[in-house]
Amino acid sequence: MESISNISLFLDRDGVLNERPGKGYVCRPSEFRWLPGSLESMKWLSRVFKNIIVVTNQQGVGKGLMSQMELSAVNRRMLDDTRKSGGRIDMVYSATGLRTEDSFRRKPVPGMAYEALRDFPGIQLAGSLMVGDTFRDILFGYRLGMRSVLCGNKSEVNIDYRYMLSAWFDNLAGFTDFVLENGAESFFNR
Ligand SMILES: [Mg+2]
Repeated sequence: MESISNISLFLDRDGVLNERPGKGYVCRPSEFRWLPGSLESMKWLSRVFKNIIVVTNQQGVGKGLMSQMELSAVNRRMLDDTRKSGGRIDMVYSATGLRTEDSFRRKPVPGMAYEALRDFPGIQLAGSLMVGDTFRDILFGYRLGMRSVLCGNKSEVNIDYRYMLSAWFDNLAGFTDFVLENGAESFFNR
């Protein structure tokens, strides 16, 4: 078994782990649908990365479309599924404020990463990966000095900003295959 690296992994939720809920939000556990290969990926990624942190914007709470407790129930299902399949998520941070509120916690603003640093003092941002499916995620990681990886549609990142991308994959399963083949360190050696 591959030994654990010193690298921490920050993951976006919707569009990386589970299906993007269209224009709405995942408001209850039964609406949380894993993307093909993502749950299986978590098992393998858990063996490679030191900390696995989910950072997710969920302004559906701020809009009153779900309560904080409902969001927690959705996240709990994600955590339970992950654990049952042999994987690990160390912590989930959710930014529930509205986009218009200019919250310090909402990606691409860095608040949730600072909370992770407070809770996991061993994390080195310069030695961390941010994986997401939108430009917000990429910008969040880039500004914090992480390596940013897009999983999803490359058109999410305007060609002028692609210098912020360390790599691009179709989905989390593609990222996982790459990590298992080349090592997580390979993102830092170029
Ligand atoms: Mg997303």
